[in-house]
Amino acid sequence: MKAIGTDQGFADWLTAFRPRALEAGIAPDVLDRALAQARFDPKIVERDRNQSEFTKTIWDYLDTAVSDDRIAHGQRALAEHAATLEQIEAQSGVDRHVIAAIWGLESAYGSFRGDTPTIQALATLAYDARRAAFFEAELIAALKIIGTGEVSVEAMRGSWAGAMGHTQFMPSSWWAHAVDFDGDGKRDVWSDDPGDALASAAAYLRHWGWTSGALWGLEVRLPDGFDYDQTTERVKKPVAEWAALGVVPMAGGDLPDHGQASVLLPGGAQGAAFLIFSNFQVIERYNTADAYVIAVGHLADRLRGGPAIEARWPRTLRALSLAERIELQERLGAAGFDPMGVDGRIGPNTIAAVKAFQRANGLVPDGYASLDVLNRLR
Ligand code: CA
Repeated sequence: MKAIGTDQGFADWLTAFRPRALEAGIAPDVLDRALAQARFDPKIVERDRNQSEFTKTIWDYLDTAVSDDRIAHGQRALAEHAATLEQIEAQSGVDRHVIAAIWGLESAYGSFRGDTPTIQALATLAYDARRAAFFEAELIAALKIIGTGEVSVEAMRGSWAGAMGHTQFMPSSWWAHAVDFDGDGKRDVWSDDPGDALASAAAYLRHWGWTSGALWGLEVRLPDGFDYDQTTERVKKPVAEWAALGVVPMAGGDLPDHGQASVLLPGGAQGAAFLIFSNFQVIERYNTADAYVIAVGHLADRLRGGPAIEARWPRTLRALSLAERIELQERLGAAGFDPMGVDGRIGPNTIAAVKAFQRANGLVPDGYASLDVLNRLR
């Protein structure tokens, strides 16, 4: 077993990494410059094991992500950068409010871009065993960015997880999607001017299939007696079929038709319901947590002047701890409702297993991983 967290263990890892980096085409002088100051940072590993999208309830997450402050700040940012955002929207077809919402969530509109040296963050995470292969590939990509001369080692900073600049691009995404919006010859997502970063985020969404003029989703009201087996991203129907089943917009009027849609209950049957369209899956490419995608979509709606979420959330329920989520998955599996893996993350497979358990026990099969479900499995 390797000695995680020791300077010697990290130094040994760097020695072993060097020939792999050379083999990947990193110039020796780039490698020397970039890795000279890299140290193992245990705080980064600790944060890697405690990501907020997976440890808060959806309502606690949205309270912070779409706070009044973040809406007001976003409206100021939209006004200040109106010309840039208008041009990016015209070029990419991506709604400027969605670009601004991603900017707002990723870096508070550029105010918190992260001060962690990216090479150090990625080297630490590549050395840590949990997702070593993923982070080593990102480290190689980051070293190749240094090799282009478009950013210095000193200026390449970002989050503890290696996400960089205004819209928190990983190095591999920078290579695939970064744009030189202002034409200065550098795809500069790090500096104070957000133009390159915002155009890059728009290019990313466009690449993954953003549909111009379509919503991400909207809050809906479900009729009494609605079949909760259908409330999953995996069930897709034309909007007309949902309308025929009695699904109506919370704000009134007719359902907008943006193609195949699903009904999502992120807080269970007692919370808000959303009808989601293909643009929801495009935002998922940025971050797969439902809470994140709903926050981006809802923040964009609010920046456009839309209403707050109307339904009440079941605020008396608390989030399960990581240990409880793992226990829930283990007990679901032992009871014959396979969550397809035990990782403490409540994804589509765990939700499907919870639904199957609820159905078998005469409960409302809303798929919500509550303490009540865990207690019934104990
Ligand atoms: Ca540029």
